[in-house]
Amino acid sequence: MSEVLRSALISVGVISGVGAFLALLLVIAERFIANYGEVKIDINKGDKELTVQGGGSLLETLASQKIFIPSACGGRGTCAYCKVKVAEGVGPILPTEEPYLDDTERKEGVRLACQVKVRQELKIAIPEELLAIKEYNCVCERIKDLTYDIKELRLKLPEPMKYTPGQYIQFRAPKYKGSPGEVYRAYSISSDPKDEGYVELVIRKVPGGICTTYIFEHLAEGDEILINGPYGEFGLTDTRASMIFIAGGSGIAPIKCLLHQIANDGVNRKGIFFFGVRALKDLFMTDEMEAFEKEIPDFRFVPALSQPEEKDDWKGETGRITEVVARYLDSQKDASEYEGYLCGSPGMIDASVAVLTDSGIPAERIFYDKFA
Ligand SMILES: Cc1cc2nc3c(=O)[nH]c(=O)nc-3n(C[C@H](O)[C@H](O)[C@H](O)COP(=O)(O)OP(=O)(O)OC[C@H]3O[C@@H](n4cnc5c(N)ncnc54)[C@H](O)[C@@H]3O)c2cc1C
Repeated sequence: MSEVLRSALISVGVISGVGAFLALLLVIAERFIANYGEVKIDINKGDKELTVQGGGSLLETLASQKIFIPSACGGRGTCAYCKVKVAEGVGPILPTEEPYLDDTERKEGVRLACQVKVRQELKIAIPEELLAIKEYNCVCERIKDLTYDIKELRLKLPEPMKYTPGQYIQFRAPKYKGSPGEVYRAYSISSDPKDEGYVELVIRKVPGGICTTYIFEHLAEGDEILINGPYGEFGLTDTRASMIFIAGGSGIAPIKCLLHQIANDGVNRKGIFFFGVRALKDLFMTDEMEAFEKEIPDFRFVPALSQPEEKDDWKGETGRITEVVARYLDSQKDASEYEGYLCGSPGMIDASVAVLTDSGIPAERIFYDKFA
């Protein structure tokens, strides 16, 4: 190897080494030493000004000031619910945000609040309705087993919450032994809006899930619970169109709330609710649904089992919920007259939307909340 090449390689090695060392120093400094001190956050062009401790994510910093931005994934950058417009004070879009921002949002300075760090003075814009979101210190008054893996929680509110049926709250699971720390998760309100002092939630256990492990294994009746809300756009339109509701498992929660609304307000629209579960042991709330059938003039409840067990002796609908819905819509003279209201897992929603659109229901008349 020539002397020149040798010195060139050594120089490159030294420069890379120094670069890597500096990068490491920066990471360590950021992690352990960085002190951004107090930082100002201007919200909606001077409507509100906060002085906060710098260094945290925008999402957690705002939450510490009781400003709650919707987030369903607990700040992991996967749900993309926590979008806010940042006019000044942040660096370029991060790789973790890239997949969730379209061209218009990029131009408007939209960012994921869970990914943006508060390091210097920030100017941000937040929809007014989010500023109205409150935190409620509730008492968990009742925990009821609906099935072996679904529970209903009844939470006593300290003051009535103004929400639109179909909306959800964020539930705080505090740190418990074995959890990485406190987390917030979204749960749809299932209760009757007339029952103003309470909210009820229907929660399915996710094996290994942080929040649901807390609810199933640590939460007890009488415990205090922090929730904030309400959030979400899912809700009834004010048209006269017939309604087709589709839910799987705990997806029944916001649909039940809508059915209370329909019964309370005497909404005069035809409705049919397809509820998909695996076997009879997964089926619940049938009494409540039968009561709605009596109370709401043109409403039918259709539970369907996708994998009935022999002992179930099931005489009702069988098959995946999408197959059952497709059979029903095929039998209708004009399926396109329906509006769709869907809740459950992302897979179930996507498959159901495909069935509804294939039957002629326009995509803009299909509303859903994916429990993702
Ligand atoms: C708008 C909205 C409303 C919601 N309403 C309800 C509701 O009314 N009732 C309800 O039970 N849930 C609801 N969810 C889901 C809920 O917010 C949580 O995601 C869920 O309870 C899991 O939280 P966790 O902390 O226990 O699990 P995590 O700790 O978040 O997840 C643990 C693991 O399980 C996986 N996982 C997360 N969620 C699921 C899932 N649903 N099925 C299978 N695997 C999963 C994750 O990918 C991860 O690998 C809603 C979600 C949204 C976005």
